[in-house]
Amino acid sequence: MQAYYDRDADVSLIKKKKIAVVGYGSQGHAHALNLRDSGVKDVVVALRPGSASINKAEAEKLKVVSPAEAAGWADVIMVLTPDEGHAALYNDHLRDNLKKGTALAVAHGLSIHFRLIEPRDDLDIFMVAPKGPGHTVRSEYQRGAGVPMLLAVHQDATGNAHDIGLAYASAIGGGRAGIIGTTFREECETDLFGEQSVLCGGLTSLIQAAYETLIEAGYAPEMAYFECVHEVKLIVDLIYEGGIANMRYSISNTAEYGDYASGPRIIDESVKKRMKEILDDIQSGRFVSQWMSECAAGQPSFKAMRRRAAEHPIEEVGEKLRAMMPWIAEGALVDKSKN
Ligand code: NDP
Ligand code: MG
Repeated sequence: MQAYYDRDADVSLIKKKKIAVVGYGSQGHAHALNLRDSGVKDVVVALRPGSASINKAEAEKLKVVSPAEAAGWADVIMVLTPDEGHAALYNDHLRDNLKKGTALAVAHGLSIHFRLIEPRDDLDIFMVAPKGPGHTVRSEYQRGAGVPMLLAVHQDATGNAHDIGLAYASAIGGGRAGIIGTTFREECETDLFGEQSVLCGGLTSLIQAAYETLIEAGYAPEMAYFECVHEVKLIVDLIYEGGIANMRYSISNTAEYGDYASGPRIIDESVKKRMKEILDDIQSGRFVSQWMSECAAGQPSFKAMRRRAAEHPIEEVGEKLRAMMPWIAEGALVDKSKN
């Protein structure tokens, strides 16, 4: 594994460039503001007309232009809009406007690796993928730190793609934590697998099934919520800080014994077999093609699943209980009116 730090990067390479950040959401606001605070003078944000993000960017005194205008102006254009819209954005607004030799960058490999974008061959294509939500990319930078980032080059038309990508990653704070070299394929497939099997899909399904088990056995929803949802953070914080062994060191012997005795009965070989099927769906492009057809149809089942999930009683109980713990909201990273 190759890791780079600020000392390996030449940030002056990026300070002289005109940089456009397309999108001002979770990642977009963090990249644009960190670049500016690192001394990049020419940073613009590109948004479509009528976007609700325009006011947020302008409130930070960032110049806002259209994606087509940004494409004709920029030396580096970082696309930070939802992955499912990258193909249309590129085909309709970027492809015919980008100057020769421009660097087109992304924060996740999906649209490039699965060929949703077929980039012009005179462009540099690199990825800087922060290993944290945009709100953390910003808050860590402001603290004088940074989140680790992945760097990969898909196409090097100018011969400078790697050095520019490294400078970019360093300017948004990655060089303070470590910038790890990888490939588009590796980043993209492991990212999809991690979010589906553990971080998002696996974890929420595990939590929900355990919550329902307690409710169906007649226990109070508040108890079920505390034990199966709220306390996840306490355990995850211990794992985050020092790994699984650190967590096991801190919990009681009873909890640790239950961990060994029952964990593998829940997550058994059959679960691992299905994880392999999920990985195969990702590697073969089946998952992405299914998601893109869903998007082309207007996301009907995505929206239905989102609505049904939000209606689950676990959300209502959670809202009530979190109101009893006001410190949770005080430390919130997400403020929907600003970022
Ligand atoms: P968000 O959903 O937070 O950002 C959406 C932003 O993009 C909004 O400002 C939206 O404005 C704008 N937008 C959407 N469509 C267009 C368009 N066609 N033209 C111009 N602007 C548009 O995205 P994320 O920050 O979550 O994700 C951005 C990229 O970063 C993705 O590739 C993602 O995989 C990657 N990434 C995200 C991480 C995260 O923490 N969320 C972590 C690592 C990588 P509006 O809709 O108002 O027009
Ligand atoms: Mg990820």
